[in-house]
Amino acid sequence: MRSVIPDYLAEALKSAASLTSGELADYIPELAAADPERLGAVFATVQGAVYGAGDIDTEFTIQSISKPFAYALALSDRGFDAVLARVGVEPSGEAFNEVSLESGTGRPLNPMINAGAITTHSLAGPEGLTPAARTERVIDGLSAFAGRRLRPDEAVCVSEMEHAHRNLAIAHMLRSHGILTEDPRTVVDGYTRQCSVLVTARDLAMMAATLANRGVNPLSGERVIPEPVVRQVLSVMFTCGMYDAAGDWATQVGIPAKSGVAGGLIGALPGQIGIATFSPRLDPHGNSVRGVCLFERFSSDMGLHLMGVPPAARAVVRANHVVGSGPDAVRVFQLQGGIGFAGAERVVHEAVESEPPETRVAVDLTMVYAIDDVARRMILEVTRRLTLDGHEVYLVDPESIMPDPDPGDGGRVTVVDTVEQALPSPHTADPGRSRARTYGA
Ligand code: GLN
Repeated sequence: MRSVIPDYLAEALKSAASLTSGELADYIPELAAADPERLGAVFATVQGAVYGAGDIDTEFTIQSISKPFAYALALSDRGFDAVLARVGVEPSGEAFNEVSLESGTGRPLNPMINAGAITTHSLAGPEGLTPAARTERVIDGLSAFAGRRLRPDEAVCVSEMEHAHRNLAIAHMLRSHGILTEDPRTVVDGYTRQCSVLVTARDLAMMAATLANRGVNPLSGERVIPEPVVRQVLSVMFTCGMYDAAGDWATQVGIPAKSGVAGGLIGALPGQIGIATFSPRLDPHGNSVRGVCLFERFSSDMGLHLMGVPPAARAVVRANHVVGSGPDAVRVFQLQGGIGFAGAERVVHEAVESEPPETRVAVDLTMVYAIDDVARRMILEVTRRLTLDGHEVYLVDPESIMPDPDPGDGGRVTVVDTVEQALPSPHTADPGRSRARTYGA
């Protein structure tokens, strides 16, 4: 059987191809020479599956799509405080090349506009690197996100530098406010080189998938940036990634995203996929016309809007039933899925409401695949309170999904592999094989 996803993508591209509005970016002469009809789309899942249609292996320059990744590198290399002291996180609601600086401090409003991105470039790598080594650090970092060695397009880089008056003006402003501390031209030079790195739609989807996959490249397995940095970058992409169209994008598409003036567009949906499209004609905001249209379609066809999540919390308590009878009976709360705060609240609610009359109570985690820290603490607190109410509490956890299951403070749980092991001993099929362990008082 052929996969359904490339066929879907090919069909979506076919309908987007009828859009011929928009203009090539011509303020960088080399970009005006691009073939305006190029069109491609790629999905890369966090498991490393890649699906594409159209021009997915055509190289073009990354341009502003480098900004969230360079921001990620600066945050990893210098720490949050050092970066936030120089670049804010407020949407500017203005064009990408606007001189949007915070009044008073001169700090660029966010790292997605040029003022912020020029500053971020200067913060990549450890302090004291030479400008060339710093640019190398950025290109290395972009390559790690993509999972292959990337290189700049010299012609585009030179072409942009010859006309970089606006970015130079921005950099001089930044220098006058002390946000940049070195020669403005040198920094713009490095930033322009960063923007001229060649990528394909396939590379961009993999870079986005690395963000969606908590900072680990799904194919190479390399952790490129730490998780707190991923959260910061995706948040800024969500609020500022599409410049003065960010609000429209957040409501219509609802995926953290970034566009570039060579026609690339990426979206990173946390925990699910990285998406990239490529089509060079741009709308007045500098975003790819067909790319925006494709993302709107992908989001609505596949329910990818970040604010529209499936009703998962309800189903966390799969069953609340009694195994065995009489004094041997065990009350079993059978849980399932991935459990976060809202799911753990369901467990608390169930335990409070059912006030189990049985002495033995088992919390069955056999069908649970993940418990985050808050859910772990809430469920252990439930077991502690059950102990204090006179219950004998069991945690059925054959895969050790619950780390450190000690409820503390008077709580006591016995971890077993099966519900049967929570029954008094004659029921236990093979007590010798049980790895029952008791935690707590
Ligand atoms: N290198 C381009 C610039 O600085 C990037 C702009 C963009 O892609 N939006 O103008």
